[in-house]
Amino acid sequence: MSRLQLDNIHISFGALHIVRGVTLELKQGEIGCLLGPSGCGKTTLLRAIAGFQALQSGFIHIDDSSVSDEKHTLAPEQRGVGMVFQDFALFPHLNVEDNISFGMRKASAIERSKRVDELLDRIGLPGYHKRFPHELSGGQQQRIALARALAPKPRLLLLDEPFSSLDAELRERLAVEVRELLKKEGITALLVTHDQQEAFAMADKAGVMYQGELLQWDTPYQLYHQPKHQLVADFIGHGVLLQGTVNTEGSLASPLGMLEHPSLLQIPAGTPVSFLVRPDDLVPDPTSRLRGTIKARGFRGAHNLYTIELASGVEILTLSPSHEEFTVGANIGLRPEFDHLVVFAADHCELPG
Ligand code: ATP
Repeated sequence: MSRLQLDNIHISFGALHIVRGVTLELKQGEIGCLLGPSGCGKTTLLRAIAGFQALQSGFIHIDDSSVSDEKHTLAPEQRGVGMVFQDFALFPHLNVEDNISFGMRKASAIERSKRVDELLDRIGLPGYHKRFPHELSGGQQQRIALARALAPKPRLLLLDEPFSSLDAELRERLAVEVRELLKKEGITALLVTHDQQEAFAMADKAGVMYQGELLQWDTPYQLYHQPKHQLVADFIGHGVLLQGTVNTEGSLASPLGMLEHPSLLQIPAGTPVSFLVRPDDLVPDPTSRLRGTIKARGFRGAHNLYTIELASGVEILTLSPSHEEFTVGANIGLRPEFDHLVVFAADHCELPG
């Protein structure tokens, strides 16, 4: 069953058309993530789902009943939607247990106390009932904010940049923990983030918004490996777009040499195309004829990310395990290894053919 369905949503502020024809679906228990540059309309869309923003046109369905369309809009408190924001917004004068049970005023004292115990266990903070927000770290406060949003068992949870004020290491850990928690609770959730690692760690479905349009709504794997739009390819991963021309017999003349891939067979010979090169598509290989000079090296923990200038002047990126280090200025061989060859028509954003 579909828990959340957005159908061709348009939202404008006066003459500004901010959300343009967004359609997406989340099934019961799925976690979705909206990615995209600042100002592309992510928060506006989330506010519309929560009921704080009217639509110009389109439909929002939760559990197959309409909560917003052009004619009527259900009040936020009638939607069964919980929200978690970036700035925690815990009540400073209430202790942890009162913060968590705040949205459960209709439940009995016993039910409230049982739910608080259960959630404190699930977020790994048992026994924190009597602490006040100022006695908690940022990560602990954010876990409590999440527990508060989950306490009344919402039909849908919306999270707007929930980890952005935390440091990178904590963010990564919380993203994994929060995914586990949401899965245990069986909650359907939609998250807005700038951070693609966070989106990849959490999401069953993810999408990239650009200037109000949702360019692709897909699994994180498909977004990374099969972007359907150049802007998605640009936004996700450290991809570089190179130019080439399709030859007869499904090969591609390119700055990396002649590349062969079954997907090229569908494109007429002579078609100029752009194709995506991810850092994991090129493997250092001393025997390869394709050579380049290392311009920069960035340490990424398990891997180094190298910027390499090919003889043609084209710059590409490649990843290599950090224990086999190459020095800046060295000339190295590279072997193309494309699992998927993602090709775009040279002067369009969409796939050719
Ligand atoms: P960020 O990642 O920076 O939070 P976002 O993708 O969430 O950005 P929104 O907050 O949805 O973007 O804003 C989208 C655009 O709509 C922005 O240009 C913003 O200035 C504009 N906007 C948002 N709310 C209003 C409003 N109430 N009136 C007029 N313009 C608005």
